[in-house]
Amino acid sequence: MDILRQKGITDENVLAAMNELPRHFFMDSALDNIAYEDRAFPIAEGQTISQPYTVAYQTQLLKVKQGDKILEIGTGSIYQATVLAVLGAKVFTIERQKKLYEKTKEYIFKTKYPQLKFFYGDGFEGLPTYAPFDKVIITAAAPFIPPKLVAQMKTGACMIIPVDEGDVQRMMRLTKNDNGTMEEEIFEKFSFVPMLKGRTAP
Ligand code: SAH
Repeated sequence: MDILRQKGITDENVLAAMNELPRHFFMDSALDNIAYEDRAFPIAEGQTISQPYTVAYQTQLLKVKQGDKILEIGTGSIYQATVLAVLGAKVFTIERQKKLYEKTKEYIFKTKYPQLKFFYGDGFEGLPTYAPFDKVIITAAAPFIPPKLVAQMKTGACMIIPVDEGDVQRMMRLTKNDNGTMEEEIFEKFSFVPMLKGRTAP
C-alpha cells in the first residue's frame, strides 16, 4: 500500500480495506505473480480490473460511511464492489456483459459479504426499484452524466464519475444540493474502458 500512499491516497480506511483484500482472487491465476502491481489487468470479455490507484482514488472521493447504500456501474472483476463492502457499504452493482455477470454467481466471497448484490443490466438505467442511493460510482468512461442516475440520488448524495474528454476521462464528483441542483468538483485524468449502452444478449 506504500505505492498508493506515495501517489497521494490518504484515507486510512481505504488503504486498510485494500490491504485486507487479496487482489489476485479477482484475476486469472496466470497473473498471480504480478497481481499486486499498480496497473490494470485484463479480465474476461475484453474488460479490465481497474488499477489499484484508480480504485483507491475513486473510493477516497466517495467518502464511504458504514451502511451507505451505493450503486456501482460496471461490476467487472468485483474488486471495486468488494472494497466498498469491506468499508461497510450496501453495494448494488450492475454489469452489462452477461458472461461477467454470470461469474458473480460463483463469487468466492459471496457469503462473507451478503450486503453485495449483483445485477445484469444497463448502467445508464440504474436500479429504480432500489433507489434512492447515498452514493453512485461509475467505473467505466461515461460519455455524459446519465440523467436517470442523477434522479436516483438522494439529496446530499454524491456521484463519482469519469467523464469522457476524448481519449481520457476527467474524474468528477457531483453532489446533489437541497434544491436538486448539482455541485461539480473536477479532479485528475484517468483512462477507463467505455460505458456502453444496453446489455449484451443473454
Ligand atoms: N469495477 C470494475 C471495473 C471493471 S471495467 C472492477 O473493479 O474490476 C468496467 C466494467 O463496466 C466492464 O466490466 C464493462 O463491461 C462494464 N460496463 C460498461 N458499460 C456498462 C453499462 N452501461 N452498464 C453496466 N456495466 C457497464
